[in-house]
Amino acid sequence: MKVKVNAYAKINLMLDICAKRTDGYHDLFMIMQSVGIYDTVTAQRIKGGNIVINCDNADIPTDSRNIAYKAAEAFFEAAKIRKPSRGVHIDIIKRIPHAAGLAGGSADGAAVISALNILYDKNLSENELCGIGSKIGADIPFCIKGGTLLAQGIGEVLSKVRTLRKCYIVLAKPDFGVNTGAAFSQFDENGKVHSPDCLGMLKAVYSRDLRDISSRLENVFEQFIEVPNRIYMKEIMRNNNALGACMSGSGPTVFGIFEDKNDAEIAAEELREYANEVFITKPVNKGCKISVIDE
Ligand code: ATP
Repeated sequence: MKVKVNAYAKINLMLDICAKRTDGYHDLFMIMQSVGIYDTVTAQRIKGGNIVINCDNADIPTDSRNIAYKAAEAFFEAAKIRKPSRGVHIDIIKRIPHAAGLAGGSADGAAVISALNILYDKNLSENELCGIGSKIGADIPFCIKGGTLLAQGIGEVLSKVRTLRKCYIVLAKPDFGVNTGAAFSQFDENGKVHSPDCLGMLKAVYSRDLRDISSRLENVFEQFIEVPNRIYMKEIMRNNNALGACMSGSGPTVFGIFEDKNDAEIAAEELREYANEVFITKPVNKGCKISVIDE
């Protein structure tokens, strides 16, 4: 038996850093949305007790540094599965750009935890799986559940909100690395210049008014993280009738929300001047799409 998972990327419709905690982490307020770009993660039990990762992208480590590897270890630990039973082969086809603010690694981790629950017939609840995932990465619980969710705490406290209406989402990822740690340090030293209207966004999400939601997109990391040409990328989106545009996570990916497919396509074409990876996608209502393949 194999378990194949489509592991979806996410964007942040809202991201606010509320405060620094005494444990060094930060309390966040995020409205997160799964989108239709996905990695395909296939897991199969093997003899020998090892976690073996295969990935089609040579930039991603396949040893214990891989988030999928860490997720498998955490699952085995929590489910008390020991060697030699804990052998698994994990194959990852990467489509989500990595280090992009789209939770590509967390999506793979979420997929592995969900797949192992089935492969080892453990029947753990979604909340138990989220508990395992949160030990590896704050975005993993969201990626296990997915859809449209309010995430608080460091990202692990999830509340259901109303789903985003159908729209087209253009993602533009420039070839630029961001320093998330430095951005948090800036927040710690100077605070933020402006606080996003989190309550206003919650009300807009509740009303499912796509225009209102899109006009309120905000990411506090844009105050701390410089991404070359971000202004121009947003301008291209708005000039092509995007209802709103914003950076996702700690960047550098910028996204725009469109009602019209044709507008999204024209914007995507123009964005290629600044972004090496451009996608047109849609909101999806889950984090992982799981299929069991009997062989
Ligand atoms: P987030 O939005 O949660 O901040 P991100 O999209 O910015 O995440 P990831 O794609 O999760 O970033 O990758 C961050 C780093 O983690 C990469 O530089 C990569 O080397 C490492 N990594 C480990 N495992 C994976 C994986 N399975 N997929 C992608 N990156 C991985």
